[in-house]
Amino acid sequence: MPDPSPSTPAAGVLPQDQSQDQNGAQTQDQTTSVVWDPAFTRYNFGPGHPMSPVRLDLTARLCEELGLFAQDDVVVVNPPVASDEELATVHDMGYVQAVRHAGEHPDDADQRFGIGTEDDPAFVGMHEASARIVGGTLAVTKDVWTGRARHGVNFCGGMHHAMPDRAAGFCIYNDASVAIEWLLAQGVERIAYIDIDVHHGDGVERCHWNDPRVMTCSIHETGRVLFPGTGFPGDIGGPDAMGTAVNVALPPGTGDAAWLRALHASIVPLVRAFNPQVLITQQGCDSHFQDPLAHLAISVDAQRQAMEALHRLSHELCDGRWIALGEGATRSSRSCRAAGPTSPASPATTRSGSTPRSRWRGTPMSGSATTCLVPP
Ligand SMILES: [Zn+2]
Ligand SMILES: [Zn+2]
Repeated sequence: MPDPSPSTPAAGVLPQDQSQDQNGAQTQDQTTSVVWDPAFTRYNFGPGHPMSPVRLDLTARLCEELGLFAQDDVVVVNPPVASDEELATVHDMGYVQAVRHAGEHPDDADQRFGIGTEDDPAFVGMHEASARIVGGTLAVTKDVWTGRARHGVNFCGGMHHAMPDRAAGFCIYNDASVAIEWLLAQGVERIAYIDIDVHHGDGVERCHWNDPRVMTCSIHETGRVLFPGTGFPGDIGGPDAMGTAVNVALPPGTGDAAWLRALHASIVPLVRAFNPQVLITQQGCDSHFQDPLAHLAISVDAQRQAMEALHRLSHELCDGRWIALGEGATRSSRSCRAAGPTSPASPATTRSGSTPRSRWRGTPMSGSATTCLVPP
């Protein structure tokens, strides 16, 4: 793929093993590193919770049946469980200890940390399951930065609502932010994070709000009607990093054309101007028109176009250094759509909506996953 605007990594921190042939083509390994382990499905808030691990199992089985995992240019790596030291680059250790305790004694979860709540119920093994997602994102990030792979994929990652000191919105540990902190520790000077999940990427934005080395971009349904209630256009970053937070808040009912235009006309030019060395994307598929908890009207075709655009952008700006994360994909249910959008007069305070718990806990499984595959 042509590279019209080569990235300019900081001197001394270029990934190893890069070279060009006489035609200028990259001869670096073109491998895509995909992290997967059935143990990822242990991140399970229990029966009836909207974010069921079945979406991960279905995605992995689809990858296997399509032969993606067996392709010569795809390497499937197993996820380590992130260490406390790695988690501590983003999270308060008091919070980590609270998650570990909740995983050992789910009935004794400390709700001050957002766990044991309606959105983030405690479950046995919560710490290990959550830290494994971080370990997976870190593994593919290291593969991409060190040149072992061109692209990295963790379709189980993208826990973008997790805050340094608390869980939120089905997210316990913020794998994207831990990966970003790891890259910064290697000397990377410019990292772009683009979040096309239907919810505002508030946790990642918060973690890097005042860091001029990290641009966070989020396209989402407006916080006036949807969890987490943040992410407005005037939110542009902290005093030392003005302009490095980008928020495009869209009204309920936004369709393919407007959603793609928001990406192409707003996000892409700004990221080009920032000229990142690494691209990290959060590709939650809950913008899909059948998602039961949000109200955009996006098709799989448009989601595919967005992902292809992000892929092209990674080659144009970052020599292909791209870490693609999944997350947002709740159970598809036509019956839930009948409940209609959350009233603008009463912003949702939980990701599961302002509707009574029993409304979403009783939602039947449709059997169809809205999770999308990331094109390698
Ligand atoms: Zn590529
Ligand atoms: Zn989401």
